[in-house]
Amino acid sequence: MKKWDQYLQANYGTPSIELVSGKGSVVKDADGKIYLDFLAGIATNILGHAHPAIVKAITQQASQLSHVSNFYAHPNVLELAALLQRMTGDKSARTFFCNSGAEANEAALKLSRKTGRTKIVATKEAFHGRTMGALSLTGQPSKRNPFKPLIKGIKHVPFGDSRAAKRAITHKTAMVIVEPLMGEAGVLVPPSDYLANLRAYCDATGALLVFDCVQTGMGRTGDWFGFEYSEITPDVITLAKGLGGGLPLGAMVALGKAAHLFQAGDHGSTFGGNPIATAAAIAAIKTIEKEKIFLNVKKVGEYLRSEIALIPGVTETRGAGLLIGVTLDTPIAKKVVKQCESLGLLLNAPSETYLRIAPALNISMKQAEQCVKILQRAIAEVKNG
Ligand SMILES: *Cc1c(COP(=O)(O)O)cnc(C)c1O
Repeated sequence: MKKWDQYLQANYGTPSIELVSGKGSVVKDADGKIYLDFLAGIATNILGHAHPAIVKAITQQASQLSHVSNFYAHPNVLELAALLQRMTGDKSARTFFCNSGAEANEAALKLSRKTGRTKIVATKEAFHGRTMGALSLTGQPSKRNPFKPLIKGIKHVPFGDSRAAKRAITHKTAMVIVEPLMGEAGVLVPPSDYLANLRAYCDATGALLVFDCVQTGMGRTGDWFGFEYSEITPDVITLAKGLGGGLPLGAMVALGKAAHLFQAGDHGSTFGGNPIATAAAIAAIKTIEKEKIFLNVKKVGEYLRSEIALIPGVTETRGAGLLIGVTLDTPIAKKVVKQCESLGLLLNAPSETYLRIAPALNISMKQAEQCVKILQRAIAEVKNG
């Protein structure tokens, strides 16, 4: 794409597809070609494209008031924060709004400094964002190394390893941050007692337990945050991706004592909690509840995981709900993605050996069946050269 190279920086590489419109989980490119969208803006467009409830909410809001800053309150910020409190099931929950996942984790990092401690425990291969603080929490050497020195005092331990976490968490630990289910690293599910063990180690030492639910949150796994199965509550939940229903919005929700660590002047964001982005979030949450979309997430997610596992060339499927990792028996994932694109299916390959599928939460069973068919054909075609 010549114009991309002419006007944009090279940090993403050059995309080969230019998307111009969408409806639900079908998108159209600049040449008029149609695709099934099984990536949804990277787990972001939770109700697909141009959902009537979201379109109505944001157009109404845009025609009334588009931005107020945090010098003033706005009904949407109040309503969304109340919804988030209800979703946590904990009246102590208090929200700070920002615009992205990295910013939500930056906020958690700063919040943890208010404990008076500075040490942090994070996990290897975790992804927490690209800004310097969030990158310091991120456990992927390829993303970190070019930008060293990063923030000091952060120890990365193997994900899912309770004993390693126990050794690393001490009375000097300000916070422990983990993804309930690792997204970018390959949709990795930890042992079932892992999150509860982390809760116990944090309780014993006074460290804050932070769950980065940026990718797993907002119904992606079939519940609101992705850690509910563990039956424990963290001190901090970070959200973004699906939160704004396709608009840029992030949040750092703190519970219990952590909810009161920030004092006036400690942190801020000009656009955080923007009226239009929060209008979209409210509409998305209400639609998910009204249409009982979690049921669809579980049903279609199970179908995709079991059917894709049967495709020749696939060794394993993993995940929860509609966050699905697919391991291939040969390192052809990027080629498979290209082939899927030419056959009219969008998904992604975070590495050469696995694919990630994260469609809209209201994806239909029929579209899921089409996805399985195309994926099977694409893998076979790549393998047969
Ligand atoms: C995507 C992601 C982030 C970063 O979010 P941005 O909005 O890109 O800053 C952080 N944590 C997790 C788990 C993510 O998946």
